[in-house]
Amino acid sequence: MSQKKWYQMSTEETLQSSGTEPSKGLTMEESEKRLAAYGKNELAEGQGVSPVTLFLNQFKDFMVLVLAGATLVSGLLGEYLDAVAIIAIIIMNGILGFVQEFRAERSLRALKELSAPNAKVLREGQVELIPARWLVPGDIVVLESGDRVPADIRFIETNGLYAEESALTGESVPVAKHTAPLEGEDIPLGDQRNVGFMGTMLTRGTAKGVVVRTGMATEMGKIADLIQNTDATETPLQHRLEQLGKILIVVALALTVMVVVAGILHGQEPYGMFLAGVSLAVAAIPEGLPAIVTIALALGVQRMIQRKAIVRKLPSVETLGCASVICSDKTGTLTQNKMAVTHLWTGGELLEVTGNGYDPRGDILKQGQHVDVRKNQMLRRLLQVSVLCNNAELREERAESKKNQPDDETEGVWSIKGDPTEGALVVLGAKAGVTQQSLEGLYRRIVEFPFDSERKRMSVIVEHQGGRMVCTKGAPDVLVQQCAYVLWDDKIIPFTPTLKQKVMAANEGMAKNALRVLGLAYRDLKLTERSEEETAVESQLVFVGLTGMIDPPRKEAREAILKCRKAGIRTVMITGDHQTTAEAIARQIGILPQDGLALNGQQLSAMSDDDLDKRIGEVYVYARVSPEHKLRIVKSLQRQGHVVAMTGDGVNDAPAIKAADIGIAMGISGTDVSKEASALVLSDDNFATIVSAIEEGRGIYENIRKFIRYLLASNVGEILTMFLAMLAGLPLPLVPIQILWVNLVTDGLPAMALGVDQAEKDLMQQKPRLAKENIFARRLGWKIISRGILIGLCTLAAFYITLKQGGDGPGALVKAQSVAFVTLVMAQLIHVFDCRSSRSIFHRNPLQNKWLVMAVVSSLLLMLPVLYVEKLQPIFKTVPLGVMDWVLVLVFAGIPTFLMGIGSLMSKPRKRKPASYGGGGAKAMKPVVR
Ligand code: ATP
Repeated sequence: MSQKKWYQMSTEETLQSSGTEPSKGLTMEESEKRLAAYGKNELAEGQGVSPVTLFLNQFKDFMVLVLAGATLVSGLLGEYLDAVAIIAIIIMNGILGFVQEFRAERSLRALKELSAPNAKVLREGQVELIPARWLVPGDIVVLESGDRVPADIRFIETNGLYAEESALTGESVPVAKHTAPLEGEDIPLGDQRNVGFMGTMLTRGTAKGVVVRTGMATEMGKIADLIQNTDATETPLQHRLEQLGKILIVVALALTVMVVVAGILHGQEPYGMFLAGVSLAVAAIPEGLPAIVTIALALGVQRMIQRKAIVRKLPSVETLGCASVICSDKTGTLTQNKMAVTHLWTGGELLEVTGNGYDPRGDILKQGQHVDVRKNQMLRRLLQVSVLCNNAELREERAESKKNQPDDETEGVWSIKGDPTEGALVVLGAKAGVTQQSLEGLYRRIVEFPFDSERKRMSVIVEHQGGRMVCTKGAPDVLVQQCAYVLWDDKIIPFTPTLKQKVMAANEGMAKNALRVLGLAYRDLKLTERSEEETAVESQLVFVGLTGMIDPPRKEAREAILKCRKAGIRTVMITGDHQTTAEAIARQIGILPQDGLALNGQQLSAMSDDDLDKRIGEVYVYARVSPEHKLRIVKSLQRQGHVVAMTGDGVNDAPAIKAADIGIAMGISGTDVSKEASALVLSDDNFATIVSAIEEGRGIYENIRKFIRYLLASNVGEILTMFLAMLAGLPLPLVPIQILWVNLVTDGLPAMALGVDQAEKDLMQQKPRLAKENIFARRLGWKIISRGILIGLCTLAAFYITLKQGGDGPGALVKAQSVAFVTLVMAQLIHVFDCRSSRSIFHRNPLQNKWLVMAVVSSLLLMLPVLYVEKLQPIFKTVPLGVMDWVLVLVFAGIPTFLMGIGSLMSKPRKRKPASYGGGGAKAMKPVVR
């Protein structure tokens, strides 16, 4: 008999053939054995570039090959020393390029590792979160709405489960999943309703399942080759720089040809001129640029990780710097998500709850007097519903040292496992003696209709001795619509419009004090009633009361919002919570200005896109919104020219996160679906982290501009020195090997050190840059050309003066070339400090960037031996310089930077565009050209 397929087996058969215990899962030992036998739960990746290939690639460049060929020829002609030295420099250059690219590659790989998925698995009776790649067949995984299925799984328990399997089946409508065995052979994947496939998404419900296939054995593994082509990691800036690099190659080559032709016309020896030309081309082509950009991006991304922001898509690093609006969730992002019930309302009476955080010690008071729960039937029911319709758990953790002393009376730390809103209700119950343990024996849960932010409510059906009961909790405005009765004076009476109004007034009163309000209701179910349909079950309910909980704002939120305002970035709150609560919190933390508007989901639905576009600049708070509203808000803001950063955590937030320019997901509370749609994940769910990420994003972009300025100005200087000398009919100011050495000494380390430079102080006091801004904008192009020309002219001047002083003999030429060589290097090493500032060298402490100081010192250490070590002098055609020569060198090397610096000090400070913000918000900001 052929073996039964997984979908044909019953759940018992599945568990039996997987050799796993449903309540315990696998043992650690067994899971390790299986991991060794089945391998990691990973899809095979395409082969990366090997380090050897990466190294050899460094020598594939056309001009480098020409240089190597020409050097070999000169070696054959007898210039051994020259040939060996030039080849050595080519190899050193290759090593530098290799190190840069290897680092870049490694950092990118490390980033990928960071966003690897996790899975909740039952091992030795405990549910643990482990990297999904460690799953083995037989593991029992626990899944909920928003999770990505981590392996192929046979479901053994499902609760209103739906999965979206378009990645495998092409069917984008989520399909219901269950646990019943299927009959028949060769059932198509789309119809295998009791199996969850790796890589598909759970859009609703909860489930447990046994892993039946992992890694390449999964259905996804079978088509892995088709999905290998993951997102290209090249950022728009990298792409533009690549194009620029191509243009620069052509320009450098054309100039080099002109230098060679001018030299030959002025009587230079053609072969020597050719070699000088090729060396110049090799030096002038900024081949290191792409690798340095990647390193700057990758190192910046690592700094962001330290600041708790994980970048999932490299291009978003650039976009971050352009963000002009942040749309943020409230709960957990702007607030602490540490809920505590402080008020209750039932039967027309407001009660107070005392206590601290999740500590279950506290009291319920009416006008300052203790309320006896045993004598208050309405309150008892309210607490029962709160605790029964709940998935959170209260835990006390004792310090390690106290664990072995059960009699120890000292306090542990109370924490919540699960949703903090529900946790607050468990704590509330515990304060009055209505604990989960006390209800466990009396009530057995049979069905759950999970909470989701669309429905804004949750229900459970429980069985008890007397029958069955449905318990529901949710947003009061939603819940009252499901209620036909109310518990009043210990009696169930019809929920009249007057009573409804009383409830809503109480709700409003609590919300005004920034409390998050939840309504509670219940009803007895008739035995004949069907329990599968939530709409039927959640109707005709008996309203019991309200709970109001505080969720204090995060301490850092206010300051971060202020920082955004100074940086020309508007902060907008988008929340599922009640409008009054949202407004109160938004005012507390400085989001909602005096004249700012708040809109709720209903108002939003009634508005046309045109209306929304007109008002959007004034709205700072959107309350009671559904996920689809978020998408409308993003699109409208984008139509106004904004670059939008938008947070989200639920399954249904994914479209808005995707549509935003920077989609942000929550690392702690976010679903896999939202994380995968996002460009940035906040590992601490904190709003302030978004602001840090934007700050880093701006800093990274400015650093890229800094080293582009440095490299290009240096290259302009090098080419001009040679070009002008040839035009003027002077001898060669630099011999080929000197040109190559200048390139090696100045291009590599200082440029990399600029890539990790600290940001300028006013980085977050400027308007966001425009998304389509040219990299040479804000006077960068002018700085490159002006500094480059000055470096070229000054080097040539130092060369010319020394040549004339020496009286035109061959000795004088060698000396003048040495002076030109050192002037060029020094001018670049001084200019590198100027590149740190958007104003001038006098505006920043040059010693602040210790990497740069170290890089410049090492460049000097590479240059000085060339002058002063006797054995090297014939190779580099140099002579040692005396004190007066150094004075000349330093004066001319300093002119390009200091002259421009003094100029900028004397000129009126350029008006820096201040950040715009305030009432006008979007209107006040210049639209970004899309
Ligand atoms: P944000 O969107 O800022 O994260 P939020 O958490 O309030 O805010 P939702 O999670 O969509 O947004 O919640 C919307 C409303 O649903 C809440 O105001 C509350 O009344 C209700 N609610 C929240 N959590 C639960 C829950 N676990 N069970 C029942 N109702 C809930």
